Amino acid sequence: MRFLITGGAGFIGSHLAERLLQRGDTVVLLDNLSTGSMDNIRHLKSSERLTYHLDNIENRQLLAELVDDADVIVHLAAAVGVKLIVESPVRTIETNVNGTQLVLETACKKRKLVLTASTSEVYGKNVNVPFHEDADLVLGPTTKGRWSYAASKALDEFLALSYWKEKKLPVIVVRLFNTVGPRQTGRYGMVLPNFVKAALDGKPISVYGNGQQSRCFCDVRDTVEALVRLIDTPRSIGEVVNVGNTEEISIEALAHRVKERTRSSSPIEFIPYDQAYEPGFEDMMRRVPSVEKLQALTAFRPQTPLSEIIDRVTAYFQSKSEPAPHAAAVR
Ligand code: UDP
Repeated sequence: MRFLITGGAGFIGSHLAERLLQRGDTVVLLDNLSTGSMDNIRHLKSSERLTYHLDNIENRQLLAELVDDADVIVHLAAAVGVKLIVESPVRTIETNVNGTQLVLETACKKRKLVLTASTSEVYGKNVNVPFHEDADLVLGPTTKGRWSYAASKALDEFLALSYWKEKKLPVIVVRLFNTVGPRQTGRYGMVLPNFVKAALDGKPISVYGNGQQSRCFCDVRDTVEALVRLIDTPRSIGEVVNVGNTEEISIEALAHRVKERTRSSSPIEFIPYDQAYEPGFEDMMRRVPSVEKLQALTAFRPQTPLSEIIDRVTAYFQSKSEPAPHAAAVR
């Protein structure tokens, strides 16, 4: 099959591309490198079944051509990361809403299957964990920037489902829970790469708030497996599906686990939310997916243990800090 991945040079996109190429598919990536990077796809560039375009999805003509040539569109291009969202709310809203609208409109002309990525953020302040796909979305006020991400993604979901209902465009909506693994950068605030990097550098590990908030961390390989299986399952069409791991850990416990796995002597420090983000910042206390629907559709649920994920992320950062073999040879 021929896949178009928007945001294909991003963290999740590059892992998906790798998986699809491994199984013999043809992959076209579209990425403007706003948060993605060529480093993420360098190892894939030698594949003759991979092409990439460094451009915006707002380039309508290019998007139309790429959609024409594809069997399936995986729409991952988005503004992600709570820090980025708090700092650049205009960009978040515009990228997420306009980009998805364009992809759906373009795909609709040719009736191409679209898998579009949403986020567990849409559950917002709902406290009834685990979150089932039909649960209420409980968002905070529009005066608090964080909620613009959830609201923009919720609008994407409405739009995708409306294209399915009204125009019979086949769509699948996935709500991705915290996804982690090699190649994820800490630059946009994500907790695990930041903790591992600080631990390896012997710097303080910064826990925001009191550290009692919890998350479930899903290995990106499991996320990609879930996406591929959903695409291969016709019953997924028109559905919203959670994709995440159910192993829950508090952020304070995560800091200790990272210290232990990396044998680091870094101190753990606590930073108030309003210093870490912005005054009045609201966090979610717990975020746990129900993966019953995913399992019913695909016979798969993400299960990589957190300690194994931390070790993989650690190995990635360690390999990055070593000089590249060819760089040494040139010297
Ligand atoms: N967090 C933290 N230290 C960091 C980055 C994040 O304590 O350096 C906290 C953050 O406040 C949140 C959790 O870790 O409670 C997960 O943050 P992340 O941005 O990775 O994902 P989120 O679940 O907020 O989308």
